[in-house]
This record gives sequence, C-alpha cells and structure tokens, in this order.
Amino acid sequence: MSEMTKEEASARINELKAELAKNSYLYYVQDMPTITDAEYDGMMRQLRELEAAYPELVTPDSPTQHVGGYAKPGFTEVHHITPLLSLANAFSPEEMEEFDRRVREGLPKDARVEYVVEPKIDGLACSIIYENGRFVRAATRGDGNVGENVTENVRTIQNIPKVLKPVPGVEMPELLDVRGEVYMPRHAFLKLNEERIENGEAEFANPRNAAAGSLRQLDPRVTAKRSLAFFAYGIGTGALPTHNESMDRLQQYGFTTTEGRTKVSTIQEANELIRKHGERRASLGYDTDGVVVKVNAVWQQNLLGATGKDPRWAMAYKFPPEQAETTLRDIVIQVGRTGVLTPTAVLDPVRLSGSTISRATLHNEDFIAEKDIRIGDRVIINKAAEIIPEVLRVAVEKRTGQEKVFHMPEHCPECGWPVERKNGEAAVRCTNPHCPALGREGLIHFTSRDAMNIDGCGPAVLNQLQETGLVKDPGDLYLLTVEDLMQLDRMGEKSANNLVRAIAASKEQSLDKLLFALGIRHVGAKVARTLALRYGTMDELARATQSELSAIPDIGPVIAESVVTYFGDPGNRDYIERLKELGLNMKMLGTAASNENHPFFGKTMVFTGTMPTLDRATAQTMAQEVGAKVTSSVSRKTDYVVAGADPGSKYTKAQQLGVTIIDEAEFRRLLGNS
Ligand code: NAD
Repeated sequence: MSEMTKEEASARINELKAELAKNSYLYYVQDMPTITDAEYDGMMRQLRELEAAYPELVTPDSPTQHVGGYAKPGFTEVHHITPLLSLANAFSPEEMEEFDRRVREGLPKDARVEYVVEPKIDGLACSIIYENGRFVRAATRGDGNVGENVTENVRTIQNIPKVLKPVPGVEMPELLDVRGEVYMPRHAFLKLNEERIENGEAEFANPRNAAAGSLRQLDPRVTAKRSLAFFAYGIGTGALPTHNESMDRLQQYGFTTTEGRTKVSTIQEANELIRKHGERRASLGYDTDGVVVKVNAVWQQNLLGATGKDPRWAMAYKFPPEQAETTLRDIVIQVGRTGVLTPTAVLDPVRLSGSTISRATLHNEDFIAEKDIRIGDRVIINKAAEIIPEVLRVAVEKRTGQEKVFHMPEHCPECGWPVERKNGEAAVRCTNPHCPALGREGLIHFTSRDAMNIDGCGPAVLNQLQETGLVKDPGDLYLLTVEDLMQLDRMGEKSANNLVRAIAASKEQSLDKLLFALGIRHVGAKVARTLALRYGTMDELARATQSELSAIPDIGPVIAESVVTYFGDPGNRDYIERLKELGLNMKMLGTAASNENHPFFGKTMVFTGTMPTLDRATAQTMAQEVGAKVTSSVSRKTDYVVAGADPGSKYTKAQQLGVTIIDEAEFRRLLGNS
C-alpha cells in the first residue's frame, strides 16, 4: 500500500466506496446480495487500511464511519431512543488480544474487567419497546438512528413476549428497549427455499437474508408464515448494572436469550470459548457467523463509549467462510415431486466443513447462466447456510478451453415429455402429468414424517415397490401384504409385518396430514392445517369456492386457485374416493372435531384492531383450534367480531349488521382460556 500515491489511494477509495454502496443496497434493501460477506468484509478492510494511511481522505459518508443499512420505502420510520450500533470485527485470537489491551487502556488501572461471551446470531437486529410491560413497538436497525416500523410483523414472532412476565420483587419498567436478533432457523430456511423453487421464485441466499426479507414485508401475514424467531442480546434503555444481569432479567421476562452465554475474566478464556463454538456451530439449528465478546459492567461500557459505528466495549470475532476448490465433472437433472427440473453439479469429492462433498445444487438455469458455470470448470464451493453446498464461482483463470456450456434439456430426462418454462418463473417443469418422477417423489412425500408418517418406508423401499409394479400410486400402499413386501431386497418377515402395520395405522391420520400428503401445489403443512381446521372434512373442502378460500387469512389467491383446480380434476376426485374406500380418515381429528360443544365451534369470526395482549395471528389460531372459521371480512354470516383498539371499518360494519362484537377479555372467557 505504501507504494500507492495519494491520487491512486483516493481513486481506489472512491472505487471501494462505490462497490460497497452498491452491495450494501443489494444486501440491506433487496435482501439479495450477489457477493459473499467475506468479500464484502475484505473490501471494507482495504478501505479502512487506506483511510488509516491517508486520514485526510476520510469523509463522513464513508461506510467505515457509519452503520450500514437503510430504511426500506413503504415502512414508517422509527427514531431509536438510543442508536443501534454495529460491531467491530476481529478475525484472529491476536486481534482479540488487541481488543482486550484497548479495553484495559481505556479503563482505570485497577478496574477488574469481565467479559461475556455469546454467539453472534446471523439475522437482523431489532429493537422492541415495552411500555409498562406491554409490547408497543418494534423497529429494524436501519441506519442506526432511524429504523423501519415493523411492529405488526414482529408481533407475529412467537417467542417474543407480548406482555412481560412479572418478576417477583421487581417493579415493571415503564420503558424497556430490548435489543436482539430476528433470525430464521435452518429448517425453516430450507423449507422456505423449497417452496420458492416450487413457485418459481428466487431462492434466498442464506437464512440471514431470508429473515430480513421475511421481516420486512409490508403484509405482516406473510411474515407470520415464515417461522422467524428471536434471540435477545441486550437492553437499550432499562439496562441493569451488568450485561449478564440484564440478560438474566430478560429471561425472567420471558425472552429467549443467546444460548451458551458465558462470563469470563480473561481474553484467553474468551478465545477458548470462541474455538469451542467454532467446533459446534455447524450442529446448531440456526446460523452463527461469529462470537461476540462484551465488557460486562455497564459503567465500564459507558466509559469506553463508541465510535460512530461500533461500541468500543464489544468485539465480534468472525469465522472465516469455509470454501474449497474442485472440478465440476457433470451437471445432472433431478425431477421433483411437482415436476420441477433441478440441475445438480457432480463434483470431484472434496472436504468441506468436516464432510465430503460430491454434489452441489445449481438451483436453476438462470443461476448457471449468471455464474457462467460450464462442465469441466474448476469451481469454488462453499456451504451456504453451513448446510447446503453451493457453487460460489468459477475459477475462470483455470479454464483450458475444453469446458462445455450446459443447456437445460428440452425433454424430461425421466419420461421424455417436453419441458416448459412459464413466463416469470425460474423453474423448468416436465409437462407430463403422469411423469414417473412425480409418482416416485410423490410417494416419498406421501409417506414422509409431516405427511402420513409411515415408518420403515424409505426411498429404497419405495423405489423397489415402484419398480416391481406393486405400487403405482400411494393408494396401492394400503393393499400391500406381508408376502408382497417379503419379495423386496433386505425385507425380512418382521420388517414386513411392521411396515404393513405402520401403513394401516396411517389410515387414521388426521385430515391436515392427508391434505399435505396429497401434494396439492402450494399446500404445505401449515396451509393444509389451516384448511383442515376451517373445513373439517375432505368433502367440505372439495366443495369450497375460490372466493371463499381466498377470504381465509393466510390463504392467498394462488393457493385458493390451486386447491379449486385440484378438486375440480375428475382424476383427483376418483383418487380421493379410492382412498376413502380404502378406509383412510377424511376428517380433522383432535382439535376441532372434539370441540363440537365449544361456543366458537363452526362459528365465523373476524378479528380487527389491536388487542391488549394477544397478537392477531395467535388469537386466530386459538379460535381455529376449537373449530371456528376465521375470515377477513364482516358479513351477515359473521357470528363474532373480536375487536381490539382502533378497529376501523370492520367494527362499524359489524355494528350496522348487528353482529356480536366482543373484546379480548370476552374472547378469552368464551375460549375458556382467561
Ligand atoms: P455485523 O453483522 O458484523 O455485526 C453487528 C450486528 O451483529 C448487530 O447489529 C447485531 O444485529 C448482530 N448480533 C448478532 N448477535 C449478536 C449478539 N450476541 N450481540 C450483539 N449483536 C449481535 O455488522 P452489520 O453492520 O450488521 O453488517 C455488516 C455485515 O453485513 C458484514 O458482515 C458484511 O459482510 C455484511 N454485508 C454483506 C454484504 C454483501 O453484499 N454480502 C453487503 C453489506 C453488508
């Protein structure tokens, strides 16, 4: 760097600033980054080094000087009571030691320094305001001073208390500003991306972007479906004398705080905990991109203060991304349950994050084209979300000229039928409604845990059943005998008996499981449950009209159309009749069916306004669980309107029509859950 002239440095600084600004926009506003965090951090580091060499070139608009992030248009703004800052980064134990030195230098000589070590959750920061123990407002970090008002969206996150639990002997604070990370658990992220592939939508790059994209939805009902969760990691206003005490208090109030939080008195102990976390982070249910080390005593934090961007009393140790280089030997196509063709890279086996990788997803043809991935290329792979291997980029400089450009096949590799790509969709699908892949993948889905949950029926068994012609569709499973099964490889009498028993037992599954098992497009496990709760029986659901379905909260027009199309198909109707004849249960069991005497059973209910303690999604689910039909508009058919504060036009309409209006207290009383 020293060889660089000031002019060169200035040009490079401007270049870096422009690149960082462009990528910040993609990351914070679009939730769709096109470079990795490590690449971004690398540019940031270069910029910081150049600015350190030429302090006169530092400008206030430099990304090194302020918190990155923007408030997205469409949300109202929230001015934070105290700013939400970022964190300085360290990448080695030595840098952590330097941090420790700086902390000690900034404090009185005899000060006893304690640190709290906790995982750095890879999600997005959120500030949640409680007034007299009640949830009133939530905001994203935004630019640190002004964030987006995401109150209604955050209200849908289940592990965030809407009312703080009273702590014996402690007065409820008038104002409490809880800070923490909204994140998406890995299983939810994988599921969401699967759904997005099916719907021809772009996948999220990682759980962080999925969490940010899901939280910052203008329609909170979308957020409610996204299985977000929250880890509290700090208090803005209302903190106790030490960080650790604040965290314990938040736990008492009912928050989930970061797991594995540990107090230590030396940086060496902190480094050891960082090393240990590095070993176990792959096995957690959520992504962590580092470990945060914080000075425990608030008086020390105050004395150390903050730069414009980061507190001086905390440091984020960031784990290096794990990457590996290998040769892409081939691109093969897999056909899924709904006929989507997914290209997969076949790789020369290579070690990455403790496992051997020989395949990586290539998502769809746009992904391959954008990255210009060719057969024979040397490719860099990483583990997105630390679980799915992904091709990050091509080592173009290693090309020999022998590499082959890949084209998506025009015919389904399973059945030879033509494929099609609908306008606006990234997915290419097989057009054959009876493609064998649909049958095979459909069988795997039908028997899976969240569907009919038939134990002992793995893909190997199902493949054989299909190949021998014993099972052509899921209905045939119910005709299998022990003798049939014993013809299969590695199937003894005992396993065969068990499997026949498991298949028979699955006949009793509740309607929601069966609905999900049918594999109706856009009907995932959650939608299936909503529909089953609303209609109670398969026949009732089959009669539902599109407008009736669209009126159900959580059911959009796309799902409604898909359900109506499914039941409108004579082949599907015959198939369901056949399942019925085979003895499969067609009713919702457990909750609603056993609630026939409940005051809300079969009643049509509408929720409006803000209730004092319950968030709307929870209240609606509670009502549905006892057999109520929840709709979004008031008509003469409405039995109850549950109204909170600022209810709006639904309330007026209910008054005009003489519909019974109840408040939360009455709702709870009738529900039997006061
Ligand atoms: P950061 O993510 O490195 O650190 C600050 C954040 O950590 C806080 O805001 C908080 O939300 C979070 N955090 C998680 N667990 C915490 C805990 N236990 N205690 C305290 N805080 C905790 O910094 P940043 O300013 O949020 O964002 C910069 C990051 O975004 C960098 O890692 C950068 O790589 C990435 N980024 C990437 C791109 C891209 O294009 N790939 C673009 C912009 C930014």
